[in-house]
Amino acid sequence: MQKESRRLRAEGRSIGLAPTMGALHEGHLSLVRKAREDNDVVVVSIFVNPTQFGPGEDFDKYPRDLAGDLDKLEAENADIVFAPAVEDMYRSGHSTVVEVGGALTSTLCGMSRPGHFRGVTIVVSKLLNIVLPDRAYFGEKDFQQLQVIRRMVRDLNFPVEIVPLPIVREKDGLAMSSRNKYLSKDERIDALALKEALEHFRERVEEGERDAMKLAADMMSLIEETPSAEIDYVAVVDAETLEDVATLAGRTLAALAVKFGATRLIDNTVVEV
Ligand code: AMP
Repeated sequence: MQKESRRLRAEGRSIGLAPTMGALHEGHLSLVRKAREDNDVVVVSIFVNPTQFGPGEDFDKYPRDLAGDLDKLEAENADIVFAPAVEDMYRSGHSTVVEVGGALTSTLCGMSRPGHFRGVTIVVSKLLNIVLPDRAYFGEKDFQQLQVIRRMVRDLNFPVEIVPLPIVREKDGLAMSSRNKYLSKDERIDALALKEALEHFRERVEEGERDAMKLAADMMSLIEETPSAEIDYVAVVDAETLEDVATLAGRTLAALAVKFGATRLIDNTVVEV
């Protein structure tokens, strides 16, 4: 892959990378389409990265559908699919980590998934070094991941432009996710509590509410009305630093992680105050 990228770059062709874990849906394809618009060559990586899953998480049962993914990527005119085996990405003796410190990785998902972002930054560093893209595309669905990667790229001078893309949702508002496949029929209905809480947050902010604690408490009570919902976190934080805010000012992120049965879903929205 690296050899091919070096050859393409030597010819003066620009490369766009969309990193994914496969089981592709419209959210992933929005990254691929933007990469197609911006670059001469589009590379999509498909790799379910073991180092970003904690013990007891869903690494083994994470949905995998390489054949279906290849069909979708062919239809989007992607040029190269990079789908390495775990043994090829992590050769025996792999012992290097890449870690972004501070609030960016210790709050929100970092709290409930210790080590998760370290796994993400290790694999994204490797993918950037292997694919050598001019631009790499990430969804705001994983807002914290996007901010962590931006910080890593800035701190370590990766020569790549990180391009964010908005959340793609189902018709009824549920944020698309490969993990939505796990939901039972009832859980799928209950999961709408996430987008309803975020819509409520946006309305309250529009009405003038600026108290972060109140806004978070409001979202929490709304979600608690759905008995099957088990809240992991509900947070209202600064959208750049992900640190707590008391009063909303500037770009503010409302972020949620909620379990329905065994399935943990995340969603978020950003408001500009
Ligand atoms: P994943 O396969 O879940 O690791 O996601 C790969 C990339 O697709 C990440 O940058 C995600 O943020 C992005 N992505 C996943 N779901 C969505 C969505 N519903 N809307 C936009 N981007 C998404």
